[in-house]
Formats: sequence, structure tokens, C-alpha cells
Amino acid sequence: MALDVAVLQDKVSQELASIASLEDLKRVRTSVLGRKGLLAQALDQFKSLSPEEKRTVGREINQLKNGTEERLNQLEAGYLEEEKRRRERQSAVDITLPGKKPLTGRVHPITATFREIDRIFSSLGFAVAEGPDIETDYYNFEALNIPKDHPARDMQDTFYVAPGVVLRTHTSPVQIHVMEKQLPPVRVIAPGAVYRNDQDISHTPMFHQVEGLMVDRNVRFSDLKGILTVFVHEMFGADVPVRFRPSYFPFTEPSAEVDIGCVICKGSGCRVCKGTGWLEILGSGMVHPQVFRIVGYDPEEISGFAFGMGVERIAMIRYGIDDIKQFYNNDLRFLSQF
Ligand SMILES: [Zn+2]
Repeated sequence: MALDVAVLQDKVSQELASIASLEDLKRVRTSVLGRKGLLAQALDQFKSLSPEEKRTVGREINQLKNGTEERLNQLEAGYLEEEKRRRERQSAVDITLPGKKPLTGRVHPITATFREIDRIFSSLGFAVAEGPDIETDYYNFEALNIPKDHPARDMQDTFYVAPGVVLRTHTSPVQIHVMEKQLPPVRVIAPGAVYRNDQDISHTPMFHQVEGLMVDRNVRFSDLKGILTVFVHEMFGADVPVRFRPSYFPFTEPSAEVDIGCVICKGSGCRVCKGTGWLEILGSGMVHPQVFRIVGYDPEEISGFAFGMGVERIAMIRYGIDDIKQFYNNDLRFLSQF
């Protein structure tokens, strides 16, 4: 049987032309180059050729084999590249789609008010001090000149953790901790949670206060008025009137409540200010000499003032909120307004 290389070449060309996918390519590689493929079959017939024929035909078959291999490799590289690009397209981000907006949190109005108070007093040279939420009777009452039988204890309905151990009813004990640890001059604010057994539209069992204390030589009542007036004007606006009204606290003498002109009605009288035109925002006074003696300061040498404010109260006035429980209901419709 004669070996016609031209016919063989046609057959191989047809096979190559039939390739349309990577699967086709694998099939053709077997059918042409495989152990029982076209070229292998041709070599079976090769044995019967004369030596001269073998030389010519051998070269032609070899060229055909090399050419076919090269072509198959080219095609294969093309298909693999195409496949790789297709996978990349699938996993790529489609930048033409509209984005998903992540739900961002925001600062709670109480935290925002804390930060504003902090900012104002920092600018006046006050540092931040902290104390424990659980206090002994001594720090919460006695060291603040509130002895056991003192009627002032009735002013604050106290949670007792154990006999002689309380959840602090005010941030004032931090004054004592600070003065025990350092000598004058002292200029601190003490923000934190406080606890009282009390609950209505303007009271919750846990709320927040900021205490302030300034002690040095020659600190006078005019310093108290000046500092707190600056605070009010920074917090509520430079045109808001400030009033100092005589009051009583066991740990200050003299003592004063600080009122601001009602920011709702501008002083003409409304429900929020109960028709008075004024809103009480904090208590203050000159530190009582007995408190200085208790921490080992000499009241003949130094003087100072202290003040304390409810952060919820400040925030309610600042944002026009009429129910204190709104701060703790975790209602996003409320919280996302700030
Ligand atoms: Zn008013």
C-alpha cells in the first residue's frame, strides 16, 4: 500500500480546521499525534518503502508532525488565554453598578454634649479627672461635709451596694480623690455616670454629670462667675443671659444655682421654663473650708470653687428634647436626628 503524504496532509488539515474549542483540540491531538493516530498509522506503512523513498517521505512526515504540534500548541495557548480572561471578567467588580452605602453610626447626643463641655473647659485650662462609680459613704457624703445625720442626705435617694458602700449619687467625690492626690493649683473637670433612686419625665436612675473644681491662691467668687459665664456663652450662645441665684450645698459656701435665659421662649415664659423665662442648668459655689481641711489643704492659704451639672439637662436644653428617656430608648428615629 502506497504512502501518499499529500493525502495525509489533507486529512491533517481537515482535522485542524475542525477545531472550535479546547475539547476539540484535545480530540485532534489524539487523532493526529496519538499512539494510534494518523501519523502513527502512516509510519506503519513507512516500513515497506525503499531507502530513497524513506528519506524523502520521512522528512515530509516529520515536517508535518512538527507543524501540527506547533499549530496545536498555538491554538491551545489562545484558548487558555481566553478562558483566563473570561474568569477575570467574572470575578471583577462592576464599577458601573450603583454602590452599597454602609450604615454609619453617629455620636450619641449625650456623648456629643460631654465632648462639647470637655472642649470648652479644656480651652480654659481644665484637665479631665475620673473616679469610681461605686464609692464609700466617706467619699460620697462625709468628706463632702455631709455627716450621717445631715438632712442633705435626704436630697439624694441613694442606691446602697452594701452597708457603707453606694453607687455614687454625684460626681463630687472625684473632687476629694483629686485633692487627696495633688497639691494646689487644681483645675479639673470630672465627667461620669451617677445614680439615684428616682424616675420621671426629667429623671432616670442613671444619668451623667460633669463636676468642676478650681483651687489656687486667691480664687474668688468673681472667678467662678467669669468661668461659668464663658461656659454658658460657648455652650448656648453669646447672647444668652446668665443669672446666679443664692442656693445651698453642704460642700460649698456661699453656693449659687446658675440659670440661663430660656432658649425656647427667649425669656417671655413657656411650658419648658414653667413661665419664669429662666432655666436652671448647674449648681456651684466656693469650696467649703471644712472640705479643704478634710483633704489636708489649708483654707487660710487657698480658696476655690466647684460646680456640677447634669449632662442630660444640658443636652435637653441644647437640642430641645422634652423627655429624658429618649436618650436611652435606642430609637434610631430619635438618635439619627443628631
Ligand atoms: Zn421658656
